[in-house]
Parts: sequence; structure tokens; C-alpha cells
Amino acid sequence: MIRCQFRRGIRLEDDRYYSVGIHPWNAGCYTKRDVDSLNRLARDHRVVAVGETGLDSVHVAYELVSHGTTREVVQALPDIERQLELLMLHIRLSEEVGKPLLLHVVKRYPEILKLRIDLKPRQTWIIHGFRGRPGLAKDLLKWGFYLSYGEMFNPLSVEATLSVCWLRRMSPRSRSRILSLPSLSLRLCLSLI
Ligand SMILES: [Zn+2]
Repeated sequence: MIRCQFRRGIRLEDDRYYSVGIHPWNAGCYTKRDVDSLNRLARDHRVVAVGETGLDSVHVAYELVSHGTTREVVQALPDIERQLELLMLHIRLSEEVGKPLLLHVVKRYPEILKLRIDLKPRQTWIIHGFRGRPGLAKDLLKWGFYLSYGEMFNPLSVEATLSVCWLRRMSPRSRSRILSLPSLSLRLCLSLI
């Protein structure tokens, strides 16, 4: 993600895989040309996912301001309406090209959950760098989201993620035996892998 300096005429290298998207921080400064590039790139065989896209009501955003003939990028407050518009564009694209959606979500999980429930997309939605609590992790997993973890994460959420994934595949009898254990530890889940 480059802040409002989209690289036009991007050349994809053959030995790499890519995800392409217009980040929500740039919801105020992308142009039709950027959307055209995104549409074109998303169809390339080296592109395996669409995003990052998403909703972020916390971090600074960028906006394109015109002064006569010149245009300047300035910092702005996040605009959720615009981010939502851009997110919808990515959701449609992900469904169209049949590639997973990579989501950047900060303090906007209820909206993201509602979108998945209402739209019933065929594609996988992956939350990147999930830092939320275990309860939220379980809710998201229940609705078919995938979670990825980065540098900062809640270890209990990782535990919840692993336990839910494994519990889903177990027979009801084994599941109840596992649930009766005093603590479903990360070690146990890892040993099951
Ligand atoms: Zn992100």
C-alpha cells in the first residue's frame, strides 16, 4: 500500500504472487484510473487475492485536494462512507475474479460481520493482522472468516482460533471430551496439528 501514490503501469514479476487493492486509508484520494488498474491487475494469474481493503475509523486518512490545476494530497479524518464504497467495489471484484478478499479492519467488526452475513459472498474473507479478543475471533470464525496473525496479537485469540478450527473437524464425542478439559491450551491444539 502506497499512500496516495499509486504506481501506475505496475509490472508484475513472474516468480512472485500478489494481492492488489486500494487501502481504506486512501479512500479519499483514488481516481478512476486507479480503479481501472485494480480491475486489470486483479485478473492477472500472479494475483492471488484482492485487498487490502476494509474499514478503519482510527488511523489517519488521505485526501486529494485540487487547487486550480494542481492537486495535493493532504491528511484527513477517516471517512467511513467512502471506505464502505471502496470496500463494496473490492467485494464485487473478489467475487467477479474468484479470488479471496484480504481485509484491514480497525474498530469496525460489526459492519464487516453484517456485510458477510447479508451479502453471503462465495469467496473467502481473510482478516489480516487480527488483534482482537478471543470472543470476537470465535464469532468471525463462526461466520466463515479466516484470521491471520501478525507481530502484535492476543495469544488467547490464537488459542481460540486453533481450537475452533480443530473442534469443527472432530466428531461430537471427541469434541465434548476436549471441551471437558480444564484448559484448552495452545500446546494441545498445536500438537493436534
Ligand atoms: Zn492493514
